[in-house]
Amino acid sequence: MMRQYELVDRVRRYNPQADEVSLNRAYVYAMKAHGAQKRASGDPYFSHPLEVAAILTDMKLDDSTIVAAVLHDTIEDTDSTREEIDKLFGSDIGRLVDGLTKLKRLDLVSKRAEQAENFRKLLLAVAEDVRVLLVKLADRLHNMRTLYFVAPEKRARIAEETLDIYAPLAGRMGMQTLRDELEDLAFRHLMPDAYAMIAARLADLRQKNGKIIATIEKELTAELAARGIDARVEGRQKQPYSVWRKMERKSIAFEQLSDIFGFRVVVENVEDCYRVIGVVHTKWAVVPGRFKDYISTPKQNDYQSVHTTVVGPGRQRAELQVRTALMHDIARNGIAAHALYKDGRIAGKESLTSESRSYQWLRRTVALLAEGDTPEEFLEHTKLELFHDQVFCFTPNGRLIALPRGATPVDFAYAVHTDVGNSAVGAKINGRHAPLLSELQNGDEVEIACAEGQTPPAVWEGLVMTGKARSAIRRATRDAVRAQYATLGRQIVTRAFERAGKAFTEDKLKSALPRLARATIEEALAAVGRGEMFSGDVVRAVYPEFMEERKASVPRPRGEAGWFGMKKATSLVFKFPGGGESDQSLIPIQSSHGDLPVRFAPNGGAVPGDRIVGILTPGEGITIYPIQSPDLTAFDEEPERWLDVRWDIEESRHELFPARICVTAINEPGTLGTIATVIGDHAANIDNIVIKPLSADFREMTIDIEVNDLKHLNTIVSHLRARPVVSKVERVNG
Ligand code: MN
Repeated sequence: MMRQYELVDRVRRYNPQADEVSLNRAYVYAMKAHGAQKRASGDPYFSHPLEVAAILTDMKLDDSTIVAAVLHDTIEDTDSTREEIDKLFGSDIGRLVDGLTKLKRLDLVSKRAEQAENFRKLLLAVAEDVRVLLVKLADRLHNMRTLYFVAPEKRARIAEETLDIYAPLAGRMGMQTLRDELEDLAFRHLMPDAYAMIAARLADLRQKNGKIIATIEKELTAELAARGIDARVEGRQKQPYSVWRKMERKSIAFEQLSDIFGFRVVVENVEDCYRVIGVVHTKWAVVPGRFKDYISTPKQNDYQSVHTTVVGPGRQRAELQVRTALMHDIARNGIAAHALYKDGRIAGKESLTSESRSYQWLRRTVALLAEGDTPEEFLEHTKLELFHDQVFCFTPNGRLIALPRGATPVDFAYAVHTDVGNSAVGAKINGRHAPLLSELQNGDEVEIACAEGQTPPAVWEGLVMTGKARSAIRRATRDAVRAQYATLGRQIVTRAFERAGKAFTEDKLKSALPRLARATIEEALAAVGRGEMFSGDVVRAVYPEFMEERKASVPRPRGEAGWFGMKKATSLVFKFPGGGESDQSLIPIQSSHGDLPVRFAPNGGAVPGDRIVGILTPGEGITIYPIQSPDLTAFDEEPERWLDVRWDIEESRHELFPARICVTAINEPGTLGTIATVIGDHAANIDNIVIKPLSADFREMTIDIEVNDLKHLNTIVSHLRARPVVSKVERVNG
């Protein structure tokens, strides 16, 4: 633990006029106040405020800030009072400690309104004095450094809050060094596997490229010195978290990241910055579009530098950031550096009213605060200012979820948990049902409804905002689709073996995999399911001597709807309930939502009760046609694509299937209403209606409806026929 004289020494090193009496008094007072309190690590509690103070001495902050840091937990955690602190240390320090006490309650994340209230306290405190926020960030940094000792269930929440609130806040205030460390620590705790993976890859790269970096450093320093530019060149590597964020945001692989390495060139003055760029651009090839001048146009948080990317030795891309020493300090310490550099002396309270953009931003935010009356209104304003590229939403129990602007409830669901995203079927925003792909607004409370056994629709992938959601959807749909094809393939192959009078086993298929050029059984089956490989090939791969018995023309059976003549199928036998072979040898069709890649023929699909046939379309799976469909003649020459299928519908599921009917009706007012009413009265959905005039008196309406089954459809047709305005009703099958 830091000794009393060490603390004073640290401050005196950058501020010889430090108020030693106050520092010493704070040390003794806080030590006594915290007494025998212990931290989760078992260390005396007092070591914590001292470490927080030490972090702030590294930023060379004024002694009021240091004293406030030493005292920051006394009012909240000990018997100390504001009055006592005012009396002993003056009201300036009293106010700082009071502000920190208020902020401490921000850690107790609870209901949304309370959170907003806390946020308000945070910023109001900041408005009073930006040093409160500096102490708060240092406090959070030390807590993150010692997070390992905290109970695991609390760890994740603290780490998440750090990523959501404190790290971006540090970034906004230009304190890059602090931000990097906060993110790094939070990342380690939240995603240890990802962290380990990226850290290992970075270490690997460092070893491989170490020489190149040293070479570039040396060459560039010499080159610049030869032109009379005094520069410090240092190689640097991206932080694991920023690598991760980039991979996530752009959905790219580690190998595709081009700017893992970079160089920082620190020079004396602005003119030298541009001279360095001149030298660099003459020496190496420039990557177009990467030159950015943040000196003439500083970033919002006052960051200044010139950036360029070149192709260095070994064809390695490298980003260079060129800046002055002052810019460098501001880039690393942001507002803290401003406090220091303003009129060249250590910051007192006055110098914090500098023209720093960071500070202006705080003021603006605070001005808005004063206007907003309700906490929600406040939160709305604050977040717009604070994180204009983000939206903040809440779970029903008050957890704050930060998302990029434009995010949807699907993004939200994936941010909560991958399983929640994968099984999401509906959303409520602020208690009202909302589409899963609507755009979330600041402050929305989002509730996700989940159902077991769901697969996210593949189209979501292109509609979500977050990389996390996108990659999870891609994974889930790929797995699901692959499993669907393998299931279908297995059924097709099993039947092919049966026809050959053999029993299908995985062992037999396994031994034939090399002949089929597939690595796994699942791959081989999925290939059959996708129509890339025919079941006959699989049988022959297992039994090379097997000759498929080619059947001659098989008559298409007579269905109620018509007679379609002969079909030149070779290996296809139609089967009907009660006829010949067992039903079990037919592929069961449950619906388009089952575990097979199934869809229904457009222009009048099949409904349960219809005799059906499946057509295998590569890349799409099975399309189900009613057997009377004239569209089937298109596949006459491709017998391998025909599959024997049967319905396997659970009545209790009340699923709807598309069918098309053609109604000829009298052209008079109310006809359409009559027809729609009949359909609606029978609880069928109308999907689409196309009306064509037949004559002055008659209209032909092609109606796409959704029905439970054939019986349902027939009932509707009968009732339509019974209407006086209707002259004819026919089912359309293609
Ligand atoms: Mn603390």
